Amino acid sequence: MTSHGALPASAIVAVIGAGTMGAGIAHVAAAAGHKVLLFDSREAAAQEACERTRAQLKSSAEKGRMSPEDADAIASRITPCDTIDDLAPARLTIEAIVEDLEIKRALFARLESIVAPDALLASNTSSISITAIGAELNEPSRFAGLHFFNPAPVMRLVEVVSGLATTPATMACLVATARSWGKTTVKARSTPGFIVNRVARPYYAEALRLYEEQVAGPAAIDAILTGSAGFRMGPFALMDLIGHDVNYAVSRSVFDAFYGDPRYRPSLVQLELVQAGWLGRKSGRGFYDYGQGSPIEEPHTVAACSDAEPYDAPAFSSETIVDGVLIALTDGRTAADRAHAEGRPVILFDLMLDPGSSNRIGFCTSQDVSDVHADRFVATAGRAGKRATRLPDWPGLVAMRTVAMLANEAFEALLHGVAEEAEIDSAMRFGVNYPLGPIEWAKRVGLGRITLVIDSIFELTHDPRYRVSLGLRRALKDEACR
Ligand code: NAD
Repeated sequence: MTSHGALPASAIVAVIGAGTMGAGIAHVAAAAGHKVLLFDSREAAAQEACERTRAQLKSSAEKGRMSPEDADAIASRITPCDTIDDLAPARLTIEAIVEDLEIKRALFARLESIVAPDALLASNTSSISITAIGAELNEPSRFAGLHFFNPAPVMRLVEVVSGLATTPATMACLVATARSWGKTTVKARSTPGFIVNRVARPYYAEALRLYEEQVAGPAAIDAILTGSAGFRMGPFALMDLIGHDVNYAVSRSVFDAFYGDPRYRPSLVQLELVQAGWLGRKSGRGFYDYGQGSPIEEPHTVAACSDAEPYDAPAFSSETIVDGVLIALTDGRTAADRAHAEGRPVILFDLMLDPGSSNRIGFCTSQDVSDVHADRFVATAGRAGKRATRLPDWPGLVAMRTVAMLANEAFEALLHGVAEEAEIDSAMRFGVNYPLGPIEWAKRVGLGRITLVIDSIFELTHDPRYRVSLGLRRALKDEACR
């Protein structure tokens, strides 16, 4: 199939692997009107997946999300197959089997001899090189990655991933087809983690590091990143949901694939959870304990409140001097360093997605800020509807450091041509529901500030993980020239 347009709904789609992802992808293709052939090497797995999908569709119809006729029609379009040879009529086959290069290669070698010479072949792999899977095909030009997110019928994003031999025509047809299935697509080059699983690493890694450095506990960090920075879920709650075994394995695989680059170094704290079998929600305990119902909070670190007199002035969006104290958004320098440079006490506050509506604010103070001033800052935050979380005097605090490192990784991916700027941002918005794409976010905050945050952490730690991407430095330079 070399057409640049989408596959017509009359084209048959085959899905191989009837587990979590395969069943979801079959559902998506059937909902778009395709007849779907579903095959799994485990006997009865495809049949069971069809029954699960039918039950899900029935429940959607009962909730009024679709008509019972539509639900029945979608379920009836998915046919479980007994043998792989039954997939011969497929114009597109999507593989969602076990994450193992040799097993995937063997499957595609077999498939290539079964389907038509112009049928498209795609893999849903999250971490294996598309170039490597396609390398032994006779015709790797028609092979690409089609990376859905879990649950496939719900998540909007599909990364369409090109290997070295994939042709633009193959990419164009897969992009158009996934779009015609209602998905938001981004095109990525086959590089470790593609876009989302690579650019998202700092969201987990910086949180784990902040915890290791004893800046704050999981509940406090989660509260700041949700209430202040606007992420839908805090990193600790999210890792508990994903499962530490899975999240650690992805971190490990990206780290190994980049030859041990410290930028992607996994966390010992997370490894220990895996070793303990504290895998998160699925095992009843991870960073939080799910045995008691809702996660246990750490009230002493999560929020401070005050009945002190609020300041008249600051609106949390710029630098202000009130009663001799400088109150400013962090730029990565510590409050102590800024107090030294300014010759006055300093209160630094953390990044907020929207200073007007955020319900939390992290802050730290230089040593010479009196308790009265710290209390007045908390009261000022309270008056603006924000609970304040006091943090140690740490470069970049929590939200600013996280957003800076996400942006740094996004600029690095851009530098290496993994994807276009707009696609990287949209991958992070639709693949992991970030409130803003990291590059757009960094531009809003100011590339100079983002760069200074990372440089400041590097200056204190000398950890090469905190090296500013050449892509970010270049963008900063371009911005200055405009
Ligand atoms: P899963 O374990 O739920 O399902 C895999 C299925 O493949 C099983 O039913 C298994 O019997 C079948 N299978 C294994 N080897 C086979 C073979 N040689 N031929 C036919 N069937 C075979 O796994 P999953 O979570 O659905 O993941 C499948 C793929 O999707 C993996 O490559 C994974 O990396 C990728 N992926 C997973 C997620 C996720 O969140 N689970 C998200 C995106 C991508």
